[in-house]
Amino acid sequence: MTDISAPPRSSQPASPAQSGAADYPGLDDWRALPVSQQPQWADAQVYRASVRELSVLPPLVFAGEVDVLRDRLAQAALGKAFLLQGGDCAETFGGATADRISARVKTILQMSVVLTYGASLPVIKMGRMAGQFAKPRSSNDETRDGITLPAFRGDIVNGYEFSPESRAHDASRMLKAYHTSASTLNLIRAFTQGGFADLRLVHQWNKGFTENPAHALYESLAKDIDRAIKFMASCGADFEALKRVEFFASHEALLLDYERALTRIDSRTGLPYDTSGHFLWIGERTRELDHAHVDFLSRVRNPIGVKLGPNTSGDDALRLIDKLDPDREPGRLTFITRMGAKNIREKLPQLVGTVTDSGAKVLWVTDPMHGNTVTSPNGYKTRNFDDIIDEVRGFFEVHRELGTVAGGLHVEMTGDDVAECLGGADPIDQEAFLERYESVCDPRLNHMQSLEMAFLVAGALSKRP
Ligand code: PEP
Ligand code: MN
Repeated sequence: MTDISAPPRSSQPASPAQSGAADYPGLDDWRALPVSQQPQWADAQVYRASVRELSVLPPLVFAGEVDVLRDRLAQAALGKAFLLQGGDCAETFGGATADRISARVKTILQMSVVLTYGASLPVIKMGRMAGQFAKPRSSNDETRDGITLPAFRGDIVNGYEFSPESRAHDASRMLKAYHTSASTLNLIRAFTQGGFADLRLVHQWNKGFTENPAHALYESLAKDIDRAIKFMASCGADFEALKRVEFFASHEALLLDYERALTRIDSRTGLPYDTSGHFLWIGERTRELDHAHVDFLSRVRNPIGVKLGPNTSGDDALRLIDKLDPDREPGRLTFITRMGAKNIREKLPQLVGTVTDSGAKVLWVTDPMHGNTVTSPNGYKTRNFDDIIDEVRGFFEVHRELGTVAGGLHVEMTGDDVAECLGGADPIDQEAFLERYESVCDPRLNHMQSLEMAFLVAGALSKRP
């Protein structure tokens, strides 16, 4: 699972007086445990100053919102709602523009309308946004033309540009990540609370996107929704509730210096919340039971996800449940499986079966992206749309056969017209990568592929028992 040895830890504990949630028991225990995928900050002074500043900055999300999300996820685990989680593999500081953020939010709203309407089920909308800045890497270094430099670990650690200055691990980037997350969240809140997400504007979310088969399908669905709304309005229904939608922020809690510094004690409950995002997940590479990531996240109140790859045993899953959800609290724990289309029908049944037999209730979500990454003949990291869809289908099939709940979808997507994944109804081929491949990490579904996927998932969801 861990594919690089843990680099020596640079993370010196901030003095208790300097860190948010100063003395809460256990919050710093991770510092004594093995930890992988952490930076080696170049300058200890900059590190200390950055952590000190982060620990007194306002929370990005609020404990009350986090508690609401936990309740929503509990509903999804019971099959009474569905989680849609999507966004970039790696957000970048440069990519946090109004146009790009709004295109991504619009796309998630469009996908959720397709899912809600197609399956008559509430959809929990969640971005891999406003904090998805840290990336685990399979190698510590990258070599180009005989020059070896530290690998890019996400904008929160170092720069993508291949130069010694840019690739140095700079702790002040954590502050930039915080402020970029704050402005991203500000825009998301304005969109989703200020009337833009009103279902009566369902057509407007489609404006500006080019013509293609998925758009035509979306337009026809939007017309149906319009008709239903007009009918209800003429019956005197009150649509105040349609004006606002809940939208949650999530990211991989990889960079523990950052997560720890943003952890605060909620004055209402007296408990620690990691206020960097509503939902935090532990990646496939950092989910070892007795290591730092699992320990730290076991101590905050946020709902937690864990990515599970094809080599996860039933026993691994049970021990993660005991550690992360000892009280078996509804909505607390989500397992995000990323098995690969080739493995899912063979590997998932045993995992779900073991967890179900233990009596534990988790939310099962499919990530059909990370088990299906390939290199295109012309050298790009890509995924085939058909493999992605096949894994989603496999996920629904397995849960249907076991009588368990296929509760959500986790995708890497963007609202832009990029070419990074192959295939789709208006197929992307590898030649298009030369012009429109923008991701600094994994390939994302573009706007149209995202909508197309939503229609396919809506079909599977509507057949869910
Ligand atoms: C990711 O979500 O970008 C990621 C690295 O996933 P995983 O931990 O499943 O490999
Ligand atoms: Mn990724």
